[in-house]
Amino acid sequence: MKKHNFSAGPCILPKSVLLQAAEAVQDLDGSGLSLIEISHRSPAFVSIMEEARSLALEMLGLEGKGYQALFLQGGASTQFLMVAYNFLNTRGGYVNTGTWSSKAMKEAGFFGEVLELASSKDKNFAYIPKGYTIPEGLDYVHLTSNNTIFGTQFKEFPKTNSPLICDMSSDIFSRELAFSQFDLIYAGAQKNMGPAGATLVVVKEELLDKMAREVPSMLNYKTHVSKDSMFNTPPVFPVYTSLLTLRWLKEQGGIAAIEEVNERKANLFYSELDLNPVFTGFAEKEDRSVMNATFDITVDELKPVFEKACESAGINGIKGHRSVGGYRASMYNALGMDSVGVLVDIMSELERKG
Ligand SMILES: *Cc1c(COP(=O)(O)O)cnc(C)c1O
Repeated sequence: MKKHNFSAGPCILPKSVLLQAAEAVQDLDGSGLSLIEISHRSPAFVSIMEEARSLALEMLGLEGKGYQALFLQGGASTQFLMVAYNFLNTRGGYVNTGTWSSKAMKEAGFFGEVLELASSKDKNFAYIPKGYTIPEGLDYVHLTSNNTIFGTQFKEFPKTNSPLICDMSSDIFSRELAFSQFDLIYAGAQKNMGPAGATLVVVKEELLDKMAREVPSMLNYKTHVSKDSMFNTPPVFPVYTSLLTLRWLKEQGGIAAIEEVNERKANLFYSELDLNPVFTGFAEKEDRSVMNATFDITVDELKPVFEKACESAGINGIKGHRSVGGYRASMYNALGMDSVGVLVDIMSELERKG
């Protein structure tokens, strides 16, 4: 039976990517050697890393614009502290839109003053704060573009003269943005790009000049930039798989094309959610995420019926995060329209029963 994978992360990847990745583990491009047993200094892997880095920039429209792409380890969670270690000299501004933002703020607190510019905690992070003022002279402003757990997403980004840093773990490569408004973007691979184990960092070279503190080699962005993201053994399998996903994305027509598909999937889901009285959305309408839809069932007795129907239909990963409850449908790039259709059919069937 076909599975419909709505998991929030690690998440669905294109089938063709999985097949090619599996093949490369046994035999990389007919070399007779496995991807994971060759030297990372071999020409074969060096060219994989170079292509992955340049394709990431190309997809974001940042090639030749003074940016560097790196594939680092330690997940987005290490970026929480690495950003602050490298750039928080005095005071950094954070917009607190949920669990991940809060964690980023906690780590930054080890290095300097953390100014909470705005927060949506008063409504359990069901919306994106707006209309706050950002003081001048901050070392940077940090945002989380898509809140994976609460299902909210920035549609517009605040203007500031300070460097803008964004955790895009769960919506990178899913929608067109003016990516050059950001000075640093980071994203754990496992939400829209590849397996866990690699974190994409896209950093503007100019930002590196603003480093005031001495930072040990492994946690210093300059180290990784100067060594072409090969300072130490890189996570070869996640990097290669991410490259395969980036090639797949390019074949689809790039971000603009995938954004259209993502919009259609989200519209299909949210139209059903809005019309169906058995279901209720968690996030406020204007801020809700195209990637992660958070919702619940208004009639308790119907919950087991819904869950059973999902299970029988091959739906996986629909349970909500414990801090929100209910359900969450994650509709990342590789999820097909047909999968959303299966879920929506179950929802409308439930209304008939309810
Ligand atoms: C999943 C997630 C993280 C944490 O990523 P790790 O790679 O597990 O450290 C951080 N930020 C956002 C927005 C996420 O969705």
